[in-house]
Amino acid sequence: MNHRPTAFRNAALSAVLASFLIAFAPCDVRGNQDVTLRRVDRWWVAESANFSVWVTSTAEEACATAARCERWCQRLREDFHGSCERPPQSPRCVVVVHDRSTDYCRAVRQTAAGSTGCTTTATEKGRLTFCRVDLRGDLGNWRENALPHELTHVVVAELGTKSSVPDWLNEGLAMLVESDPLRHRRNEVLRAAWKSGRLPSIQQILEDDRNPEGVSLNLKYAARASILQHLETKEDFPALVRFAKACTEEGCNGALKSVYGFNGGVEELEREWRVSLANEFAGTTLALRSLREPDEVQ
Ligand SMILES: [Zn+2]
Repeated sequence: MNHRPTAFRNAALSAVLASFLIAFAPCDVRGNQDVTLRRVDRWWVAESANFSVWVTSTAEEACATAARCERWCQRLREDFHGSCERPPQSPRCVVVVHDRSTDYCRAVRQTAAGSTGCTTTATEKGRLTFCRVDLRGDLGNWRENALPHELTHVVVAELGTKSSVPDWLNEGLAMLVESDPLRHRRNEVLRAAWKSGRLPSIQQILEDDRNPEGVSLNLKYAARASILQHLETKEDFPALVRFAKACTEEGCNGALKSVYGFNGGVEELEREWRVSLANEFAGTTLALRSLREPDEVQ
């Protein structure tokens, strides 16, 4: 869930990963993905066209994860870029699945297991030059939630914008691909806040991940997800992508005006969003767009 568009800061593990490469065998992977497998120290390393996947559990898990990454990446690139091709000169993405929370925390330099996944990217003049995803493999649902969430951050980083897409928007986009049960749980967090009059302000939702007083991180994420869902109902998904790009060039208020016609900027968005929540929570059911995982075999 955590997103850090920063330079790679895990030199020690990088050195481990870069060493000991031993050619092993091709995977037998459903979905016709061309994946090769290597054994590196205690890691199984599955390499596909766009990913280098590191897991400690089994060779099968490594291969299956690489194939899963390829399927999601193809789907997300089609949605965000209109093409499933990797942007020219973009690096292959390293995906590390940690089987212990302590290893994950050490890798992402977090003192507590406050997130389930972390994407680290570096860009140079808008071009992605480094990409790594760390995942909490000790959590049972990382395949359905953290993996597609973090891969969305990767594809957003591939958009080639000169500055980073704002965190709130990046996270909102990533939550659109989470499983229906998780999205509904987020919605229940929001419903509880709405009922008790504790909805955060738009400024609290849009600011970075410092926790505003009285607003839990869960609630803040739920609100971000809800705002993205609201924007998605106004136009189509390509409009959301145009909005993300426009935010990096015109700022949020300018992008809301040029893409969605909100002349009043974020305040107008907030008013409309609160009305939509009132309608939804007063009894009207919001139909969440169901975004199932891409089929196993394509
Ligand atoms: Zn995230």
